[in-house]
Amino acid sequence: MLQYMIILLDDASTSFCHYEVPSGERRLIHLDDLRAAIRLAMIENLTIQFVYPDYELPQEYQEVIDTIDHSDIKPLLAVTPDADVVTINGWEIDNKSLSGRVAVLRTAMSELLAHTRAVKDLLAVVQRLNVVITDLTTLTDTNREAYMHWLNEVGQTVVELYINGQSPQFNLLTDRMMLAAMNNCGAGDTCITLAPNGRFYVCPGFYYDDPENDVGDLRRGFDIKNRQLYKLNYAPICRQCDAWQCRRCVWLNRHTTLEVNTPSHEQCVAAHLERNASRQLLTSIRQKGTFLPDKPEINEIDYLDPFEKLQER
Ligand code: SF4
Repeated sequence: MLQYMIILLDDASTSFCHYEVPSGERRLIHLDDLRAAIRLAMIENLTIQFVYPDYELPQEYQEVIDTIDHSDIKPLLAVTPDADVVTINGWEIDNKSLSGRVAVLRTAMSELLAHTRAVKDLLAVVQRLNVVITDLTTLTDTNREAYMHWLNEVGQTVVELYINGQSPQFNLLTDRMMLAAMNNCGAGDTCITLAPNGRFYVCPGFYYDDPENDVGDLRRGFDIKNRQLYKLNYAPICRQCDAWQCRRCVWLNRHTTLEVNTPSHEQCVAAHLERNASRQLLTSIRQKGTFLPDKPEINEIDYLDPFEKLQER
């Protein structure tokens, strides 16, 4: 069931996930479409997340936006004191401005591995850090090993922060410890996106790939074909997997396997490296004292891709 509506306020709205925003002209959503979208969200009882570009919107837009409860996703470069989620692209980060905030850091794998100190410093100040590895599909045997070591090293910092009384939230390491079930991408299932052209898409990435690939518009309403395919129940491997923190990015699936509910090998491997590092992290924190006493241990497993395990049977 749909629960969220993401509204891209402009073609140049920031990315908060794997998709890239093409560098092109600005196109602000029409004010009437913005009003109609808010009305529809109220009728359908959907929570709205507005995604902003890096320039300040005209005052009349802000007035319409403020007519409904919502969340704001804004780029770090924009005026962000009121943003609920701040997106970061690049490493010139003023940590003070991110104190107590929810941040999304988009980075290539090599950049991430080269900026360990910056990530540790961020974790010490933000309320939550989500890292999106934008070139996940290029994961190789070589950088897979390096990623595993990187996760364990940053995990040591997370342990120290816990000992110091902080509770850092970090999607790559702490989510798996906290979750009790799958918590992944809801595109096309719990979440739908409105683009500045007044049409709906499975997620922003589908809009930027092909604006003709819409799933309805503000006049017709929602029209998601084969809607069941976006549900976990229709992903036979994922629904049995216990890498509960895995993003299962629908857009990435579509790009790599041409199926919205079939992930790439690399997505599974990365998610399992993170799962295993979370296992190590949980053990390390528990060696220092009682921690999440109601949560069971995370089992040791001998595979990184459940598809390979299935083929062995
Ligand atoms: S690790 Fe692979 S099988 Fe497990 S949830 Fe993620 S995409 Fe699905």
